[in-house]
Amino acid sequence: MGSIETAPAGAAELSYEKFHNVVASGLRGSEKVHHGVNPSDKSPLWDVPIATERDLDEAVEVARKAFESWSKTSWAERQEILGKMRDELTKHIPDMARLLSLEGGKPIQFATGEVMASVGTLDYHSKAPSPGEEILEDGDDLKLTLRYVPLGVAGAICPWNFPLVLAMGKISAALLTGNTIIIKPSPFTPYSVLKFAEMVQQYLPHGVLQALNGDDKLGPMMTEHPGIDKISFTGSTATGKRVMVAAAKTLKRVTLELGGNSACIICPDVDVAKVAPLVALGAFYNSGQLCVASKRLFVHESIYQEMLEELMKVVKGWKVGGTAEEGCMLGPVQNEMQYNIVKGFFEDCAVNGYEFAIGGKAVGNESGFVIQPAIINNPPSHSRIVKEEPFGPIVPMMPWSTEEELIPRVNDTRTGLGGSVYCADIERANRIASQIEAGTVWINSFERPLTQAFFAGHKESGLGGELGRHGLLSYMNPQVIHLYKTDVGKVAKL
Ligand code: NAD
Repeated sequence: MGSIETAPAGAAELSYEKFHNVVASGLRGSEKVHHGVNPSDKSPLWDVPIATERDLDEAVEVARKAFESWSKTSWAERQEILGKMRDELTKHIPDMARLLSLEGGKPIQFATGEVMASVGTLDYHSKAPSPGEEILEDGDDLKLTLRYVPLGVAGAICPWNFPLVLAMGKISAALLTGNTIIIKPSPFTPYSVLKFAEMVQQYLPHGVLQALNGDDKLGPMMTEHPGIDKISFTGSTATGKRVMVAAAKTLKRVTLELGGNSACIICPDVDVAKVAPLVALGAFYNSGQLCVASKRLFVHESIYQEMLEELMKVVKGWKVGGTAEEGCMLGPVQNEMQYNIVKGFFEDCAVNGYEFAIGGKAVGNESGFVIQPAIINNPPSHSRIVKEEPFGPIVPMMPWSTEEELIPRVNDTRTGLGGSVYCADIERANRIASQIEAGTVWINSFERPLTQAFFAGHKESGLGGELGRHGLLSYMNPQVIHLYKTDVGKVAKL
């Protein structure tokens, strides 16, 4: 047997104790369930249904049908609905923040920040202008018009590090551009996305937004499904490559937002005391589980020791622990698999005798996935901690002397997601930034993607991108209309 219809969405008061898939505007259970784990104390969270192939098939069929009318609604009509979704989420900020904190291990102030950023994403899309049309040529005989049309059904596959806001970027852009969407949260963090999909059904036409939680089989089923026109994927580079292979069978459009190994470059002219807190945030925010986090620190040799000491001071001043503890700055790593991966980086550094400027014992409390942050002082450039993305609270710091020797080291990676430059001399900062092979570079700020700015990885950090005007275009097909104005009898002679 497949899945079990339980209730139309919106029929009952929103419960933060029960979680369902959302299919055909209804709340749906399943015979098979699993549950997330609270990373602060490893306690089990609520059961969530595991969608079956039949659930997916039905969702795709419903989404294709819904597309027929949704794609014909106007930009303004869709924006009005996105505005209602924004207002609904705004009403639920404290509850959703609590949920995000429990499922993801974010301290409550940062979980609240993620819900606010999700509200901001809906707000941006409720006001973003349409890409409109472009007249390529308008002569006596011929008019060429480039316009953009929606793709159809989008399938969105999300990671666990920012479950809600990353899903929101996909949902709001897909809906605004006239697509219907099926969203799949990470099985590690399904709760906030399923609850959001449930709470906004009341504003959406039947089947326009559906949400399916699943096991390891659901992602591959979506990428192979002939009824899905586009996959927007955010996750690791390894999985992104699998997505691209599977999508090739039906030539689905793909957007791949993948991993990175971003460099943070600190120039000799900075105010060390002012910059150190920003550098520390860039490396350790969300316990290092941020795709664009600073994963390699390059500090000019003339201020290296001073910067190291300031960074140690900042990080030692932070409270690290389970999210139930008051005033935590860094929470646990989100899941056991990631905890073991990060621990592997600690062990590799220890075995190879690299110096831990701070940190080193790997664990903070045995009851959760808490890891005390670590800075590795000047490991060799071939070390794992320099070469690979740990996606946890451990970062290497290395000195540099000249731009000429620095830039090749910065670009010595197969990834190209982000980078940051701290420099008082803006001309020099721009010169360095423009040589970094990455989709986004921040100057004098830690790494903070903005909804209005296109976000796309270079090299193995991705394909295409999301957010901003260009992000909207990634949910649309270009179409060029050739309009001949002359008498049709004369067209052959032109
Ligand atoms: P992951 O690749 O393990 O999983 C991501 C999603 O893909 C999950 O929903 C998972 O269920 C699904 N999935 C797994 N196998 C699949 C398959 N074969 N086909 C289709 N879907 C499949 O990534 P993760 O561990 O959840 O996230 C961490 C990674 O994501 C890090 O590398 C991080 O840098 C990256 N990330 C990138 C961005 C960005 O915008 N570039 C943002 C956040 C995270």
